[in-house]
Amino acid sequence: MKTKGIPCTLKSPVAVRLVKKFLGEIAKNHPKDFQKIQSKTTLIKRVPTKDIYTGTMGQVMRVDAEVSPEAFFAGAFDDNQFEKVIVFIDETLKDSASMLVTIAHEFGHVCTTEIDLARKKAHLINGLRKQAQIGMFTSKGMEASREK
Ligand SMILES: [Zn+2]
Repeated sequence: MKTKGIPCTLKSPVAVRLVKKFLGEIAKNHPKDFQKIQSKTTLIKRVPTKDIYTGTMGQVMRVDAEVSPEAFFAGAFDDNQFEKVIVFIDETLKDSASMLVTIAHEFGHVCTTEIDLARKKAHLINGLRKQAQIGMFTSKGMEASREK
């Protein structure tokens, strides 16, 4: 079964309804985030029982992160292409408000991932490199300004 175009094996009707409702709201109000969620999420499934016992209400697991270090540091990749995840939701939660919070929390992780952070870092590093290069080419100017 698919929920908003994403394969979903949740069985609880409440969980399915809430996921559908949440994704529908995101699609309507934050289409870019929805696009990201839809292209990254390969499956929505229940939290394994052994993890429910240890208190896990939801989880996001990376299933594909094949990005070469070169591409990684150059920020030269499309995370939609490389990063795939499985989203786990505890569908046995009795309180639907807690379930909705869990759903929102986990899909929030899908939108803001390590790769997003790494890309920001790569941009920062490239920016510093560029500044250093500009500095090299205009060292005269910089010296001049230093002498003031
Ligand atoms: Zn979290």
